[in-house]
Amino acid sequence: MEEYVARLKNKFGYSDELSNFLDQLIPNLIKYYGEEYKDIILSALSNCEIHFQDKEEDPKTFLNSYFDSNKDWEMSIFVGAFYSNEIKVKDNQVVAKPIIYIKRVNLGIYKPFDFNDDRQVNILIHEICHLIKGYGKIKIENGKIIDSTGLIRKTYSYSQETGVGEENRDMVGIEEALNVVESAQILEMITGRKQEVVGYEAAGYSATRLLQHSDIAKVIRISQLRGDDSWIQYLGKEQSKKLIENFDVLVCTMYGSLEDFDKEKIEALYQKIGLAQDVIDDFVDNYCSKEDVEAFIQSLAAADKKTIEIIQQMSAVNQNCEEVSSSIMR
Ligand SMILES: [Zn+2]
Repeated sequence: MEEYVARLKNKFGYSDELSNFLDQLIPNLIKYYGEEYKDIILSALSNCEIHFQDKEEDPKTFLNSYFDSNKDWEMSIFVGAFYSNEIKVKDNQVVAKPIIYIKRVNLGIYKPFDFNDDRQVNILIHEICHLIKGYGKIKIENGKIIDSTGLIRKTYSYSQETGVGEENRDMVGIEEALNVVESAQILEMITGRKQEVVGYEAAGYSATRLLQHSDIAKVIRISQLRGDDSWIQYLGKEQSKKLIENFDVLVCTMYGSLEDFDKEKIEALYQKIGLAQDVIDDFVDNYCSKEDVEAFIQSLAAADKKTIEIIQQMSAVNQNCEEVSSSIMR
């Protein structure tokens, strides 16, 4: 592991602090997600730079130069960090370049990242979890480019004239809810201390409850790392839709809505959140695990083996290469 981290340090110019942190983190990531995902974890981290904003750095300027793009990069003041996988089409190939960007200037004040601050580290792990679950997931389906991280599914359109444009993203709420729980649990493994969910507290609470059903936890984990919809097949369209919609309420209402502090609006928002939480609670309380869960998971495991083989082949091809590509069909 030390050798691997030394290579990352060298490749991306990481600080000693970040390298030491990765030394501690990576074995815990493997333990947490499972040995079978070790290659995905290692490939994801060696394919993506973790960047901490410099004191004088304008995020927009930095990102546009990093991605050789000219985007507007709308950033809410509430966003402290993000994972982004930028998709382009070059020479008829889809290429993607990821970054984890950690903001350090907020409201004009610069604060260096503190690896001893559990809250800050929790946020960093959160983005790394997005990265891992987003590695090697680009697909072309019906002329659209699909990228996913965990359960989140992003659809992009492409035309020669307008380039790549994001059309929509689905299942953001449920994945963010799961992701905050995952990062808190991983941080607990590292520190040995009980950790709070950071970011989407209400959603994290509901996700923790949902994951108490071990069959759901298992099937969701498989879908997150394979980028497929086996969890939807398992729960059924109607039931999974209920979860998707209500987790979206819990998570997405947190984006920006509080920026206009209208008392009535906030009350209505809390009511909406309360209702969404009730629906999920109700689902969790009345859920009966299916009898054929083991058979279902085994059938997925067989298919999963194939996926892992494909990813291994991909990472072998892409070693030392910044970009992952898959061919686009017209
Ligand atoms: Zn997130």
